[in-house]
Amino acid sequence: MPPELTAVLALCRNLPSPPGIALRIIELAQDPEADITTAADIIAIDMALSARMLRIANSPLYASRRRIENLGQALTMLGLNATISLALGFTVTQGLLARDSGNGHDLRERVWRRSILSALAASQLGQARGLRRLEELMLAGLLQDIGILALLQSHADTYPPLLREADDNAALLAAERTQLQCTHADVGTWMAGQWDLPRYLADSIAHSEDATLSDDHFQACVQLSGTVADIWLDTDPDAARERALAQVHARLGLDSAQFDQVLAKISEALPTIASLFDTAPTTPTRVQLLIDHAQELATLRNLRQLQDAEQARRRADEFEARAKRLTEQAHRDALTGVLNRRQLEAVLEQEFLRATRHGWPLSVAFIDLDDFKKINDAHGHLTGDEVLREFAGNLQGKLRTSDTVARFGGEEFVALLPNTTESVALDVIRRVLASIVITPMAMSEGGPLFVTFSAGVATQGGYERFADVQDLLRAADDVLYRSKNLGRNRVIARSPSDEPFTRATMESGSAA
Ligand code: GH3
Ligand code: MG
Ligand code: MG
Repeated sequence: MPPELTAVLALCRNLPSPPGIALRIIELAQDPEADITTAADIIAIDMALSARMLRIANSPLYASRRRIENLGQALTMLGLNATISLALGFTVTQGLLARDSGNGHDLRERVWRRSILSALAASQLGQARGLRRLEELMLAGLLQDIGILALLQSHADTYPPLLREADDNAALLAAERTQLQCTHADVGTWMAGQWDLPRYLADSIAHSEDATLSDDHFQACVQLSGTVADIWLDTDPDAARERALAQVHARLGLDSAQFDQVLAKISEALPTIASLFDTAPTTPTRVQLLIDHAQELATLRNLRQLQDAEQARRRADEFEARAKRLTEQAHRDALTGVLNRRQLEAVLEQEFLRATRHGWPLSVAFIDLDDFKKINDAHGHLTGDEVLREFAGNLQGKLRTSDTVARFGGEEFVALLPNTTESVALDVIRRVLASIVITPMAMSEGGPLFVTFSAGVATQGGYERFADVQDLLRAADDVLYRSKNLGRNRVIARSPSDEPFTRATMESGSAA
């Protein structure tokens, strides 16, 4: 760009500039640590922006079967990159359009309408070509002509006539080169630099008007988007369509039917997108006829594809559900249905880390049924199994859902009580014991069978800090042995406050 022009632009006071919210989103776009929560926090501040994000998530661009009800759902559905691109599009353009009308008002409207059509064209061409990054394509299409908007402000006297007299984009570029020694793409690139827009945007604006179409599909879609947009703006839409199709076919390899589908999709999304960007969607009748016809053909073709896709989706869903069931089974003990020992260790490891990190207490109860061998001996293994099953279900049912019950092996169980102090855990397990001893666990010929258990409680983060999970488990197991030695049918804790075992402790520890 010639230095004089740069100077004029740099000194121009009423050049479009992005509003504060856009600056925060630009910052977010450059932050490698950005996540969807941060994005949501920023977007939620701006009511209008939040509403736009919600509306676009429910627009035909994202044909989802379920209605998106709130910002969180919208952003989750879109994902981080799409969220950032769309939010950038909405906010950066607020700055472009906020300028007061002046004499170039109608021109600005025209440029802006072409930008919105280009945005849709770029993303729909990309979709038809199987590209990802569709929102980035949309943003690049939208912003490729910001140079024109800047020139309308900085050269308010000389640029409007130039724009008005140019018959088409090629004529405009030629006139710009003669009068300004550069093009609006150069000015747009300069603006993108000033605003600190992401690198890929500056690049795609810089090459948006190159004479030869890029080898890169992303860039080619941006370059072709203006030509596709012209179908809506040209006085002869049929000729404009022929021109666009020739280029799109040569560069992206789309055939006539695929191209008509692209046009139909643009047309379908246009009303929502135009209103999101505060412009009236105007579709000339002839373009509409052209698109209606294309849409009918596309609908017929799509019907077959939809049926295939639906079938594939159903199979994928079934497969996923089965995989989930299998994983779930692998985590559970086959006899009792509570977690197995291996899964216990995984959960315990996780809870231990969490407790240590946040300074929360984590209590572990080691539970062993009393004289269980006698039940087997007297009533048989099958009845023993039934008792184990019934006991596990009871134990689980009497604890919170945030607690974890696992079968450690044989007639030994472990309960994990996250965020629970030792004294609370002691109370809880004692209450479980009190209720277990009066609950029949199986029926035998001689009547209902009852069991008692002994348990030891140890707590990470109370009186003690254990080095690791194994230490904590061992501590609970040690206490369990003490309760067995003291005569069974009781729950005691590890901490010194429970020692020595006075009569009072023993009485309250005994459920009998
Ligand atoms: P204590 O009060 O000292 O714990 O006595 P106990 O009899 O409960 O302990 P011991 O360790 O001597 O015996 C445990 C019994 O549990 C022996 C074993 O056969 C039985 N057992 C282990 N797993 C199963 C199982 O899956 N089903 C059945 N029915 N019994 C089992
Ligand atoms: Mg036992
Ligand atoms: Mg045992």
